[in-house]
Amino acid sequence: MLLCPTKLDIIPEEAMKTPRYLGDSNKNRLSHVHDLDNRKPSCSIESIRWAGHDVAFRTREEAFAAGYVPCIFCLPYEKGAS
Ligand SMILES: [Zn+2]
Repeated sequence: MLLCPTKLDIIPEEAMKTPRYLGDSNKNRLSHVHDLDNRKPSCSIESIRWAGHDVAFRTREEAFAAGYVPCIFCLPYEKGAS
């Protein structure tokens, strides 16, 4: 029996390589963490990366523990989102 790789087979491995959450370490404003799987244009992920303020987190709990606040656009249901 031949096994055809499907997208579902690929995603978990990719998820291990690429952290899902991106924190914005810009000290001039509140440090937000974004969910890359639910990113919105308002998150301005590209400008965070461009400025070199991107910090990767595998879980949102890690980001919250580091003092990051959930982004209102991509993590609107998290407590304390702003
Ligand atoms: Zn966001």
